Amino acid sequence: AKAEGRGTVRFFEPEMDRKLQERERLVQDLRGALGRDEFVLHFQPYVSAEGGAVTGCEALIRWRHPVRGLVSPADFVPLAEEQGLIGPIGAWVIERACAEAARWEAGQRVSVNVSPLQFRDRSLPGTILEALTRSGLAPWRLEVEVTETVLIDDADAALDILRQIRAMGVRVALDDFGTGYSSLSYLRRFPFNKIKIDRSFVQDLTSRDDNRVIVRAIRDIAKGLGMTITAEGVETTEQAEQLRLTGCEELQGYLFSRPLAADQLGLGEAGPGRA
Ligand code: C2E
Ligand code: CA
Ligand code: CA
Ligand code: CA
Repeated sequence: AKAEGRGTVRFFEPEMDRKLQERERLVQDLRGALGRDEFVLHFQPYVSAEGGAVTGCEALIRWRHPVRGLVSPADFVPLAEEQGLIGPIGAWVIERACAEAARWEAGQRVSVNVSPLQFRDRSLPGTILEALTRSGLAPWRLEVEVTETVLIDDADAALDILRQIRAMGVRVALDDFGTGYSSLSYLRRFPFNKIKIDRSFVQDLTSRDDNRVIVRAIRDIAKGLGMTITAEGVETTEQAEQLRLTGCEELQGYLFSRPLAADQLGLGEAGPGRA
């Protein structure tokens, strides 16, 4: 039915707005991108607020488009979700992230962003288990980052899949915390290992008292529920100090490192297998 729909669109091509045509071309390119091996993972470290050691890295996908260059996930992940392509792309991300992290000598964690749509697919736990088995990565070194949207659509199914993932020993983090709606009830319903405080609260932390109040409240809730907190988007030493004093366990942001190509990370052995 989808192919028919596209054919119909083609028929009206002369009247199509340029942007629509370009979008259609991007979708076509996206369909073949996995097969052409055009995706790449960058890794952004996060550090312990006390001491500054790298405790893990977040895998962030980029698309090396032959013409457009490096395309940011904000420009193609929503498209991939809409076109039903996020399943295979997401599976590739999990596979690659585990394989890479298995080479990190100090046993740092790797965090992977998982789309809410991947939670509509019962095969997700199996995909994760396969990636762990193939890479030999210990399950607790893998962390799945989800946004609370995952618990809105079909909460029961998503919770069931999240529990299966947790049962394997894989960690689960709630991403972008504070940007959604009924955050508190979701925290009660599902025991996340970690909460990531959204960058929007970190940004004005040193100039706005209300953001400080909110971060402190999030910390109290997290502590009470046995979860740790990571602050994302930390760009200044003032923010880092404030967050450390507030009791954030981990910090992430340009202050410490931008997302880096795997071979720039310097966390693993420089063996002959490394490109
Ligand atoms: P996110 O998960 O909230 O990731 C954080 C984003 O903020 C990343 O952008 C990161 O590069 C950027 N960032 C990190 N530190 C700083 C900072 O100090 N200042 C500022 N201004 N930005 C910072 P990126 O890599 O472009 O990713 C954007 C979003 O795309 C991610 O937001 C995530 O929602 C999505 N995404 C990335 N990789 C994947 C993936 O493999 N699968 C899925 N489903 N989504 C992904
Ligand atoms: Ca994330
Ligand atoms: Ca985030
Ligand atoms: Ca975000």
